[in-house]
Amino acid sequence: MSEEENKSPILVPKIFHNSDTKAPMSHCIDCDHDLTLGDRFYMVEKVFKRYPEMESVQVLFEYAICSVCYEKMKEGMSVESMFTLSNYMMNNTDLQGMQQRIDDFPNNPEKWMTHCMVKGTDVKELDEFQIGACCKGNELVTNFMPPFLIGGTAMEEITELLSKETKDEMDGFMDDHFGIPPELRKDLILI
Ligand SMILES: [Zn+2]
Repeated sequence: MSEEENKSPILVPKIFHNSDTKAPMSHCIDCDHDLTLGDRFYMVEKVFKRYPEMESVQVLFEYAICSVCYEKMKEGMSVESMFTLSNYMMNNTDLQGMQQRIDDFPNNPEKWMTHCMVKGTDVKELDEFQIGACCKGNELVTNFMPPFLIGGTAMEEITELLSKETKDEMDGFMDDHFGIPPELRKDLILI
């Protein structure tokens, strides 16, 4: 795939839209910046849980965070955790699998997320998973990183590697924005 062919913008896939409005995320969860202006990059993160008895997959929570707040949040992460996290991703990510999916479906990012980016597990076999993507306005941004999906097992492994300081930081974030108590926070890692 040449770069020329990749130039046309890809719209934010529906899976990253606001589940209530069905439109792209409109506001930063932290500073309330209007993301539809398209003047800031933003990250969308969502956590899903599968309920086999109901044959359904539900969004546990979702949010968008603008680049300014995202940077601030990263600054709050300990250097140790940052290093451990990037090290884990570098050593464990199934890059080949990811690249293959991108090559197979260059214009269909939802197809890039059919498997856990780390373990390679098929999403159909995951009881819980997290997805994330970088966007700008109504466009998906793939320069920095492709949209990703991480299954529950990898999420737990990553959480175990984080320093207490960073876990406290994440607990604070979840509590402030969702009122989610620390014992449930394992459902989300801030990547
Ligand atoms: Zn913000």
